[in-house]
Amino acid sequence: MGGNSPCASCKLLRRRCARDCIFAPYFPSDDPQKFAIVHKVFGSSNVSKMLQELPVQQRADAVSSLVYEANARVTDPVYGCVGAISYLQSQVSELQMQLAVAQAEILCIQMQNVPVVLPANSEMHDLPNYLNFTSSGNVIHRDHSQKRENIFGHDLVS
Ligand SMILES: [Zn+2]
Repeated sequence: MGGNSPCASCKLLRRRCARDCIFAPYFPSDDPQKFAIVHKVFGSSNVSKMLQELPVQQRADAVSSLVYEANARVTDPVYGCVGAISYLQSQVSELQMQLAVAQAEILCIQMQNVPVVLPANSEMHDLPNYLNFTSSGNVIHRDHSQKRENIFGHDLVS
């Protein structure tokens, strides 16, 4: 990009931005805060050394990781991103517990559904009983008619 528009790093460090400036691809001049926070937490010479040790294709990921870690360190000076990681890990283990409980509940419901099938079969057994009640009702009707015949018979005899 040339020396006319120095990158955010060279602007902050008040130096001339060389054509092969190691910061220039990752710290554009329109986002000065991105380099400022990394410089404050890690120091620009440490960031420069870390980027030089990495292959070019990994440097962008390293910069975004450094920016994230620097922001976490400013937000939580004691634990930094370790605080965020442990918080997320505790959330993961809590959700894994909830998942295990839910899976156990599903198993219990599935086990309870096996006896529920048996009452459905007993309803099938109840159907003939209901038919028996209606047939016994017919028997009672026959008994009544037989009694009436007997009563008429008795009346006819006496
Ligand atoms: Zn530069």
